[in-house]
Amino acid sequence: MTAHEDLNLTDASAGAGSCCGHAPSAAALAQTPAEEMAECRVMAGTPVVKADAEAAGLYRDYKGQRYWFCCAACGPRFDAEPERYAYAA
Ligand SMILES: [Zn+2]
Repeated sequence: MTAHEDLNLTDASAGAGSCCGHAPSAAALAQTPAEEMAECRVMAGTPVVKADAEAAGLYRDYKGQRYWFCCAACGPRFDAEPERYAYAA
């Protein structure tokens, strides 16, 4: 079933406008209350489901504020320049 696997890979990498295809789907977003959502500070404008990000370890606590990330690439970027991505005081 190699052809089928190839189809799945193609579909996964086709992600709907997110940085890496890990962002929640539009359908998932529609069902998630706003207070359970956050915006990825590294990939500005990318919505993140807080529970999903925490389950995956995609968050940081910085100066008393928690930040959630849309994908594994964003944690290291935040670590490198937290002042750049943190909320303005
Ligand atoms: Zn990301």
